[in-house]
Amino acid sequence: MPELPEVETVKRSLVPHLENTVLSSVITRRKGLRIPFPEQFCQKLSGKKIINITRRGKYLLIYLEKDLVLIIHLGMSGHIRVLQKNIPVPSKHDHIDFVTQNGVTIRYNDPRRFGIVTLAKRETIGSHKLLRNIGPEPLSNSFNAVVLMKKLNGRNIAIKCALLDQKIVAGLGNIYVSESLFRSGISPKRLSKNISFKKAEKLVKMIRIVLTDAINAGGSTLNDHRRPDGKLGYFQYQFLVYGKNGELCGYCEKAKIQKIIQAGRSTFFCSNCQR
Ligand SMILES: [Zn+2]
Repeated sequence: MPELPEVETVKRSLVPHLENTVLSSVITRRKGLRIPFPEQFCQKLSGKKIINITRRGKYLLIYLEKDLVLIIHLGMSGHIRVLQKNIPVPSKHDHIDFVTQNGVTIRYNDPRRFGIVTLAKRETIGSHKLLRNIGPEPLSNSFNAVVLMKKLNGRNIAIKCALLDQKIVAGLGNIYVSESLFRSGISPKRLSKNISFKKAEKLVKMIRIVLTDAINAGGSTLNDHRRPDGKLGYFQYQFLVYGKNGELCGYCEKAKIQKIIQAGRSTFFCSNCQR
């Protein structure tokens, strides 16, 4: 599932192809994904100039003229490719093509179809139902130990589950939560209410480092994440715990990395390093 670094990587790859470019046509090959596409979706976008592209949590926000915003969430398996010259015939899961006047096709592929592609008006974007409850951006100044402590205060849920909650902090998923908790020395099972301020400070710092390193590596390529230009992400080579169950912890070299299931999701950790 694409997390913040993968979505940020997609955003950065799209900027040079889309910003200040006009969409000449949009082609959909089904009626929707997790939710239906808006009425007259293709007509509304065709002929519009793209002003800029931003990211909020795991959402891509593509701002167009006439105050239109194209909202894209990659869901579990969404994938965006930039195609130029010799554009292949669409395959089974290629659900949308965005074609620019420069002859570039941005193709949205999503085998499991949990993604979201929809439209909003610029002035309502802050209160949009998909976006209004998203917590602070972890790489912005709005995320710090004080803010995190407020969100965790009195919560009886494991810190691992709290960090997956997009209302507490934006953009984190299974991989980056596991890696951040390991680097912070915090057990994923520790209850949120029992995180000290000092630990929260460490956690904020490690989340920022992990995400920044992952963005610089182009994200992580496990099963399906590829960058829009077809290149792979490389952060998986910096994993210290994710997917390493049964291997000796590389930090303490005393315990094996364990895998447990929390709220239906896999967690990887070292019981010796993380308390
Ligand atoms: Zn260890």
